[in-house]
Amino acid sequence: MFNYLAPSRRAGYSNWDLEKVMTHNTNQEIERLQKWLYGRSEEIASLQTSLTGARAVGPENGGPGEMEKALLIEAILASLNIPFQRYECPDPRVEGGARPNIVAILGEKGDKTLWLFAHMDVVPPGDAEAWTSDPFVLKQSGDLVFGRGTEDNQQAIASMLILAEGLRSLRMEPPVKLGLVFMADEERGSHYGLEWLLETHGDIFSPGDYFIAPDGGSPDGDIIEIAEKAQLWLKFTVSGKQCHASIPQEGRNALVAGSRLILELVRISQKFNLSNPLFLPPMSTFTPTMREANVPAVNILPGKDVFYMDCRLLPGCDPQKALKDFESATKSLEDGFEAKMEVVQWQPATFASPQTEIVKKLKRAIFDVYGVTARPAGIGGATVASFLRKKGFPAVVWSCIRNTCHQPNEYSSITATLKDAAVFGRILFDA
Ligand SMILES: [Zn+2]
Repeated sequence: MFNYLAPSRRAGYSNWDLEKVMTHNTNQEIERLQKWLYGRSEEIASLQTSLTGARAVGPENGGPGEMEKALLIEAILASLNIPFQRYECPDPRVEGGARPNIVAILGEKGDKTLWLFAHMDVVPPGDAEAWTSDPFVLKQSGDLVFGRGTEDNQQAIASMLILAEGLRSLRMEPPVKLGLVFMADEERGSHYGLEWLLETHGDIFSPGDYFIAPDGGSPDGDIIEIAEKAQLWLKFTVSGKQCHASIPQEGRNALVAGSRLILELVRISQKFNLSNPLFLPPMSTFTPTMREANVPAVNILPGKDVFYMDCRLLPGCDPQKALKDFESATKSLEDGFEAKMEVVQWQPATFASPQTEIVKKLKRAIFDVYGVTARPAGIGGATVASFLRKKGFPAVVWSCIRNTCHQPNEYSSITATLKDAAVFGRILFDA
């Protein structure tokens, strides 16, 4: 499967010699790098073919995990003489008993590192019928490559590896080091991935470094995600009394009471109408979502109703106030019903300042490469950047993507992959 670099192209890196590094002025260096990158379309397609074939679905979804993909990435790093280290998080559910996290560093000069983070795991294909080709066999159509993982997060993996290869091939030593992190388990919470890596080996990173997770973005490349809303997931259990559906007066219908409670929660949530234009969407959101299955037959009046609400709170929106108001709604049901509210997930809001160095550098680089003025934004979703921010590392999320992740027929643009690499390369020279 591994056909990323033909053997002849790999030769020559072995006598890598720092003293032979050529010195050019910065603009010439950036131009040389961009020119080199923009001729690499075939390599990106080849790389995407190998990465997609690795089927890095996590064990929760019956997959083998990331090891095959990790070995592929390590082989490429080794062929480029890039030192790397594999950090293994124990996980007895996968063959080999470990989830791989790879950290590679390129460059000797400068005391700062630009860290780029990509996750190796992918979500399962989902509805097989909705795919027009095998999700794990790359299909190319012009500039686009189709397959599970091509965008999420292999576009980033490919950008990172092609940038590293470019720097090696051109014998460039930018004033900022390039750090590459390939992570496990992003799709199921990063417990075996970045969260674990930061807990156990957090000293790899220093707060003065630059941090970008290219795992989110917009089709024009004009959004730099610097903030995430707080995440609050609530579970509501409404209890009534089950009976035969033909004699409803004998029971207390929990489905009906639960439905009334949902409407009341929605009504209450409208009070939290704080707005912040930095965020997309600009308000806190309160969304009733999952409902658990109740009775197994049409003729049973349900005595229990369980549903959930997904809340995303803007900074400044008081979670205690929201909890108090929702709790009071559970106390005001009709006689014969009881409701209980539980917090099943709480994740505080995290943000990097729009004045952070990396935001300014990224904006300059995006303007140079894509010709657009990017703006900082906040989102309701959660990314790996929140783990970094919580540890005091001012991380941002950026890439130029079509937002096809998790969909059938997921795809990614080869041109955007190379241009993203050019953006990151430009930052390395922006010391
Ligand atoms: Zn992702």
